[in-house]
Amino acid sequence: MIPHFDAKSYEFTPFVPARNFIGGEWRDPSGAEELPVLNPRWGKPISTVRMSTYADVDAAVKAAKAAQPAWGALPIRDRAYVFYKAREIMLRDLKELSWLVSHENGKIYAEAEAEVLKGIECVEYGCSLPNVASGNDLEVSRGVTCRLEYAPLGVVAGIVPFNFPFMVPLWMIPQALVGGNAFLLKPSEQVPLSSLRLVEIFREAGLPDGVLQIVQGGRAAVEGLCDHPDIEAVAFVGSTRVAKMVYGRASTTGKRALCLGGAKNHLIVVPDADPAVTIDNIVASFSGCAGQRCMAASVLVAVGDVEPIIEGIKQKAAGITLGESLGPVNSPESVARITRYIDEAEKMGAKIAVDGRGKKGTDTGYWVGPTIIDGVSPDMPAAKEEIFGPVLSIVRVPTLEDAIRIENANPYGNASSIYTTSGDVAKLVMDRVEAGMCGVNVGVPVPREPFGFGGWNDSCFGAGNITGWDGYRFWTRQRKVTTKWTLQKDNNWMS
Ligand code: NAD
Repeated sequence: MIPHFDAKSYEFTPFVPARNFIGGEWRDPSGAEELPVLNPRWGKPISTVRMSTYADVDAAVKAAKAAQPAWGALPIRDRAYVFYKAREIMLRDLKELSWLVSHENGKIYAEAEAEVLKGIECVEYGCSLPNVASGNDLEVSRGVTCRLEYAPLGVVAGIVPFNFPFMVPLWMIPQALVGGNAFLLKPSEQVPLSSLRLVEIFREAGLPDGVLQIVQGGRAAVEGLCDHPDIEAVAFVGSTRVAKMVYGRASTTGKRALCLGGAKNHLIVVPDADPAVTIDNIVASFSGCAGQRCMAASVLVAVGDVEPIIEGIKQKAAGITLGESLGPVNSPESVARITRYIDEAEKMGAKIAVDGRGKKGTDTGYWVGPTIIDGVSPDMPAAKEEIFGPVLSIVRVPTLEDAIRIENANPYGNASSIYTTSGDVAKLVMDRVEAGMCGVNVGVPVPREPFGFGGWNDSCFGAGNITGWDGYRFWTRQRKVTTKWTLQKDNNWMS
């Protein structure tokens, strides 16, 4: 039994080592390398994770192949029923699951709870699939019908990042499993613990062994999943560098692949924006989850005179209490990377209006305070590259055309927002920005279910979105069945 967390045990309760879950059993990964799992708030180890090898991937695939036919043969309603039960268990254990996420990822409890609730929303979409996945049926010629069915692919896999250890797996698992597949999850080696609880929850909900399996590890496990000939599809969420690699490698071996990458999200503010909404939203967007969200605001493009709004953003950000309303970043390497971007912008002439460097929430954790870099020019790395920390770069431009041009010059295309009270301005910007998820007066425009989650350009490789109906289509293949009803004599069209 995995020990469960609560608020009191938050600080240093040691966790069991993260293991693989294969064929209904916990197994030690067979790689030589073992890494500590660190609590970012304290910088202290809370568990360990050993890396898996190709042999572990192969063992998981074999168990999945054995389990998938019976699971795939169940009526879709029976498969979805497991998700009804899983939803109840997740709500029952909401507090404990949220503490676990907070413990391994570092985000504050309220953010962790929001993550778990968003994961549950994805589970609810899985529950709804029997009501929406009915396919089509049409009489295409007299006495001849064509029917569309959604069939499982077989064994499929998902590879996920560190920043949402509970939610991102649930972008994939409901559609993949309700679609009749057996699913292999490769968690981030930085946050492997939530996956152990996911397995427990789905077992308690009645999922048969072999249908959901966990392969812990890093690069070798990912490459194994891309290369294994019996895996039919791979979804990935993480950085653009690895997303591109996984997309190429998995496609080369004939797999279906959908790989979501990094982001550099621009928020455009024009002078008629509502100051209170804009200030609250932008601060929450760039600093929430310590800026470690692919939907976080990264560049504020200020059009014309929006000084009172910029001033309000700076004041609000400066008032954030590190360790209370803002958590740590995930690692010392992240602290160094984020600090480097701030230092570099300063050297290039930008002004550090709110400085989070060297700020601490606890002595031993990995902290960067909210940071606002003003006077950033579009060619600076702070304006172009993903920083993935609580940093907002302000770029000032005279016209809306300049703002749209700067935003679209960026290779990423995850999220984009416009702050305005003019419908015409909002429409113009939304029609022209190169981003898959857009907001009007919304700082983190995550589409709620059933709208699919996915960006454009270098933020997504492969077609479609990972959640919603696109997710179901990604994890299934379409069978078209043509039937001639022989008692209808004049059905002479189909041979
Ligand atoms: P990452 O790319 O470093 O890791 C993601 C996964 O890939 C992990 O499971 C990791 O073990 C594996 N991995 C890492 N390096 C690898 C390599 N060289 N070869 C094979 N596998 C490798 O990403 P991260 O640091 O865990 O997460 C942060 C990134 O994820 C950010 O860029 C963020 O924007 C992005 N992200 C994107 C979305 C989205 O929906 N577009 C959502 C969440 C996070």
